[in-house]
Amino acid sequence: MRLLIMGAPGAGKGTQAALIKNEYKIAHISTGDMFRYHMSNNTPLGIEAHKYIDHGNLVPDELTIQMVYERLQEDDLANGFLLDGFPRNLNQAVALDDILKKLNIKLDCVLNITVDDNLLINRITGRRTCTKCGASYHVVSNKPKVEGICDVCGSTLVQRKDDTEETIKTRLDVYYKQTKPVLDYYEKTGIVKNVFGIGNIDEIFNNVKDVLGEIK
Ligand code: AMP
Repeated sequence: MRLLIMGAPGAGKGTQAALIKNEYKIAHISTGDMFRYHMSNNTPLGIEAHKYIDHGNLVPDELTIQMVYERLQEDDLANGFLLDGFPRNLNQAVALDDILKKLNIKLDCVLNITVDDNLLINRITGRRTCTKCGASYHVVSNKPKVEGICDVCGSTLVQRKDDTEETIKTRLDVYYKQTKPVLDYYEKTGIVKNVFGIGNIDEIFNNVKDVLGEIK
């Protein structure tokens, strides 16, 4: 199964992506996670990406597209993949079409998680993320068992630098101006499936499974 997951920042893409990955045993390719890995290891790509990410802006396309191109040729994708956070603008969507054509693969579905705008800021500013495994929590609606500690791996939870109220405004602006048109682009291909992203995590995931069941 080859999927793409979309939704505004705070829509719950990362949470659903982790569940999808486990359920369907497919690779989760998150460009945000890949950049964070590079930043925490101070690689040349990480040092460059840092300049953009901390301000809520997109990393330049040439760096991002090359990173995804290389990732899509790795050998853990036999069962398929879930692309999360890419493409983020129309240029990247066209580049992804080219990459998939070259690799002779097709997307099965674009899963779009929808959430009302007024909930997004609250979700993002309350989000806490594991420094080690990337698991995501919320200070009110999805608390870890022990405050500040990841249920999955026991590492420390932090607020991502780009999850502050200031940065989120830029990220939402970037989403509406640059990423929303990508959804319109895929709507024309007929492979977009919408899932309402409000409610408890398991309920949303059940809806996701219903939608994915239709394409299997
Ligand atoms: P995310 O974890 O998907 O919210 O991504 C965090 C940040 O990484 C974004 O705000 C961007 O700065 C950067 N980023 C992630 N994916 C992309 C992409 N496809 N193109 C450009 N920048 C990206």
